[in-house]
Amino acid sequence: MTPELILYHAPLLLERGADAVAVRCGRIAAVGRSEEVLRLRGPGTELLDLKGRPLVAGFFDAHVHFIQTGLDQVFYVDLSQARSLAEALELLARAGRARPGGWVVGRGWDESVWPERRYLERLDLDRRLPKQPVIAMRVDGHLAVANTLALARCGRPEGELVDRDRGHLWEEAAQELLACAQPEQETLVEAAAAASRLAASLGITSVADMGGPRVLPSLQLAEARGQLRTRAFLYLPREELDRLVGLSVRRGFGTSLVQIQGLKAFVDGSLGARTAALTAPYADGGGMGELLLTRDELAALVRRAEGAGLQVAIHAIGDRAIEEAISACELAGVDPEARHRIEHLELPTREQLRRMRRLGLVASMQPNFAARWSGPGKLYQARLGPQRDAVIDPHAWVAEAGVPLAFGSDGMPMGPLYGLPGAINPPQPAQRLPWQAAFRAYTHGGAYATCSEGELGDISPGHLADLVVLSAHPCEAPWEELRVDMTFLGGELVYER
Ligand SMILES: [Zn+2]
Repeated sequence: MTPELILYHAPLLLERGADAVAVRCGRIAAVGRSEEVLRLRGPGTELLDLKGRPLVAGFFDAHVHFIQTGLDQVFYVDLSQARSLAEALELLARAGRARPGGWVVGRGWDESVWPERRYLERLDLDRRLPKQPVIAMRVDGHLAVANTLALARCGRPEGELVDRDRGHLWEEAAQELLACAQPEQETLVEAAAAASRLAASLGITSVADMGGPRVLPSLQLAEARGQLRTRAFLYLPREELDRLVGLSVRRGFGTSLVQIQGLKAFVDGSLGARTAALTAPYADGGGMGELLLTRDELAALVRRAEGAGLQVAIHAIGDRAIEEAISACELAGVDPEARHRIEHLELPTREQLRRMRRLGLVASMQPNFAARWSGPGKLYQARLGPQRDAVIDPHAWVAEAGVPLAFGSDGMPMGPLYGLPGAINPPQPAQRLPWQAAFRAYTHGGAYATCSEGELGDISPGHLADLVVLSAHPCEAPWEELRVDMTFLGGELVYER
C-alpha cells in the first residue's frame, strides 16, 4: 500500500535527523530523510514540499473548557481584551443593544490589567444595562458580577458566596446563576464547532475537556454533523460518578473523536478570587482561601473512580490544596498507572513533587498563567508577595522531580504559541524549561496524561497523523512572528493559514 500523503523538506522539531513523514490511512506510515521517504510514493500519493518549515505533532491542550471557548465566539461577550472597566461596560452595552431584553453574559474580565484596578459591581452594570439581565464572569471563573435584574434570579441568601450590594457571586453561587443564562442545545453545538475551528487554527488537534454546559451531547452532535475536527477527552463533574459506575462506563468509552476519560474534582478555587487554599495568608488580605473537599471525601472519590476504570483530575492551586490532593491519593493507595492528575498545581513544594512522582500523578499546568500573571507588578505578586511569586508555576521543579508534565491553557486563552513563552522565556527562573521540553509538554504531555501516548503526542510510525506545520523554527524567528501554517488531523488538512 502506498502512502496517500508525504510531507517532505520538513525538519521534525522534536524528532532529530528526520525531515519527512509519510501518511497512510490517517496514520504515520514512515518517518525519515526526505530522499528515503519520497521513495515510498506511488501514483496516488500527494506530495507536499514544506521548503524547510518545521513539523511538530499536533498540540494537545491538556486543560480546556471547550464549549465555553466556543460560546465565547457565538454567544458570550468576550471581555478578556477589555483594557479598562469602562471598555468592558461598553462591550456589554453593545451586546445588550443587539439582544434587547435577553440575557447578556460576559466572560473573562480581569481588573488586574485595568487602570481602575477594581472589580466590576452591580451598579456599574445597572447604569449601562438597566432593562435586561446581565452577568459577567471574572477571567478565573470563580467570581461573577450580576446586575439587579440578574441578581433577582439568585435564590441564595446573602453571605459568604453572595454580596448583593456589590452584585458579587462566588464559586457555586456564580455557577448557578450562570446556569440560568444557559443557551439552547443548538447554540451549544454551534459552540463546539466554533471551538474546533479555533483549535485547528492554533494547531491544537487534541484536548482534555474539564467541563462546561452539556459537553458530551454537544460534542457528539457536532461530530455527527462532521463539524468536529478535534479529539476530545472528557473529564465530567464528579457528581456524574454514580451514573458512570451504573453504566459501567470506563475510560476510553466514546466515539472516534469524543471519549470519556474520567472525572473532575475541585479542592480549592483561584488566586485571582483569593479562594485558592494557602498555608499562609494572602499578601493583600482576605484570609488563606478555602478547601472545597475533605481529604477523606477526595480519597473515597479517587478510590471508587479508579476501581471503576476512570481517571480523576484534581483541581488544586494553593500549597494547602495540593497537600490535600496528594495526601488523599496516598490515603487511597492509587495505582501509579492510573495517572490521576493535579490541575494547575501552582504552588507545590519540592517535597510534594517527590510524593507526586511516587504516586504517578501528572502535573497539568498552564504556562500562559506564568506569562500573564507572574512577575513584578502582576496579579500573583500582589496576592502572594515576591517570595511566593518567585516559585509559582515551577515547571522546572516539576521536570527535575521527574513528574510527568502536561501543558494546557484553561482557555485563558487557548493557544500553545501564546502560552509557551511562559515556560521558555518566563518571568521567574523556576518556571523555565528548555524549548524542547516545553513543546513536548504541549504535545506528548497531554497524550501521556490521557493514557493515549501509544497513538498521539509524537511523530512516530503507527501513530495518528495529527501534525502541525510551523511558519519557522522557534529558535530562528522572533517568537511573535511564529505562526501555525497548517494543521492535519488524521492526515486530513483541517486548517491552512
Ligand atoms: Zn479549568
